Amino acid sequence: MKKTLVVIKPDGVQRNLIGEIISRFERSGLKLVAMKMMQADAKLVEKHYTIDPKWFENVGNKAIESYKKKGMTPPNSDPIAVGKEVLERLKKYITAGPVVAMVWEGSSAVPLVRKICGGTEPLSATCGTIRGDYTPESYQLADGAERAIRNLVHASGSTEEAEKEIALWFNNKEILDYKLIRDMIIYDVDWSF
Ligand code: ADP
Ligand code: MG
Repeated sequence: MKKTLVVIKPDGVQRNLIGEIISRFERSGLKLVAMKMMQADAKLVEKHYTIDPKWFENVGNKAIESYKKKGMTPPNSDPIAVGKEVLERLKKYITAGPVVAMVWEGSSAVPLVRKICGGTEPLSATCGTIRGDYTPESYQLADGAERAIRNLVHASGSTEEAEKEIALWFNNKEILDYKLIRDMIIYDVDWSF
C-alpha cells in the first residue's frame, strides 16, 4: 500500500469542484486517510516544489517540449530559468486562496492518482481526467498572462516525492490508519457474503 499527496489548488476551490474532485478519487478504490482545508503560504509552496532538486529543469523542459510539439517557439529556451520563473508564479497561485490537502492510500496510489488528474497542461490532458475535463488552460494562456498554469489539482509525481510532500503538509497524527470493508472486495483473495 502506498500513500500520495493531493492538493486541490485555489482554482479548484473557487470553481466549486472540491466534491467533484474528491469523488473521482473515492470511486477509484483509493482510501482517504487525511484531509484538511488550509491557507498555504509562500514558504510552504517553495519547500514543496524544491523537494526534488531536478524539478526546475524538468518543469522547464516540459514547457519547452510542449511549445515545440505545437510547432511554436518557446518564450524562453533555458529550462532552469523557466523553472525558477514558474516557482515564483506558483507562490502567487497556490497562496491565492484556500486549498484542500489530502492523503490517498492504496495499491499504486501514486501513478493511479496521476492518471486520474491527467497531464500538467489541461489543454493537452486526456478527456476524462480532472485537468482535461474542467478548464481550457494551456502553456500559452498562462505565459501570455505571466502566471502559473491553473490546473486545479496537485498530485505527487513519485513515491519518494509523495513521502516527502506528505511529511511537509501533514503531521503523523493527522494521517489515519483504519479499515474499509470495501477493501476486502478490492484486495482480498477470497470474499463472500
Ligand atoms: P505537475 O503538477 O503535473 O506535477 P510540475 O511539477 O511540472 O507539474 O509543475 C508544477 C505546477 O507548476 C503545475 O501543476 C502547474 O500549475 C505549474 N506549471 C508547470 N509548468 C508551468 C509553466 N511552464 N508555466 C506556468 N506554470 C507552470
Ligand atoms: Mg510535479
